[in-house]
Amino acid sequence: KKLEMEREKVNKKLGQLALKDSHTGLYNHRYLKEAIEVRFSQAERQFSPLSVIMMDIDYFKSINDAYGHLFGDLVLKQLAKQLKTIVRPYDTIIRYGGEEFIIITSEANRAYTVILAQRILDKINLYNFGDGKHLVKLKLSLAAASYPEDNVLGGMDLIKLADEILNKTKEGGGNRVCSFLD
Ligand code: GH3
Ligand code: MG
Ligand code: MG
Repeated sequence: KKLEMEREKVNKKLGQLALKDSHTGLYNHRYLKEAIEVRFSQAERQFSPLSVIMMDIDYFKSINDAYGHLFGDLVLKQLAKQLKTIVRPYDTIIRYGGEEFIIITSEANRAYTVILAQRILDKINLYNFGDGKHLVKLKLSLAAASYPEDNVLGGMDLIKLADEILNKTKEGGGNRVCSFLD
């Protein structure tokens, strides 16, 4: 009960910020900065784990080059919709950059988060993106970072670590999931 009230309080606080990306309906970069610190202190107080998944589409520029920027925009919208169907209701999806996304998963440790990230990758790899004219498959690079397992000191620190892990994922050829263990 106490947890539930706390969760409602936090959600209300974050809801008031309501900073959404108009194209995908996801939260935006500005929202992330606030949300990650609020979630981080909540996790510290409750001794509960907090994880993020950072992802970047592989070779997205070539999709734009082949079919145009508007087609690319459509794919991004479809990807956002797919992500919403995979995560849990309490998870937060953020459009971090043009074709970069972050999922904040409260009460999830590293092992769980890696499995969730792999589930995202498997589902996205199978899905056909596009319109009546062209269909494309997407490859993604995903990075999972977790508090307290990965020894980070704050919310933005967790994001920074995810970014570093994502770079390694790309260097390794992409279309896979990496964590601190990799
Ligand atoms: P990598 O495999 O290394 O991730 O290469 P990439 O082609 O995906 O390129 P990168 O992540 O470095 O850059 C993102 C590209 O995605 C640049 C731009 O062409 C495209 N992009 C970014 N934002 C948008 C957007 O809002 N709409 C569309 N259509 N394209 C975008
Ligand atoms: Mg990118
Ligand atoms: Mg990319």
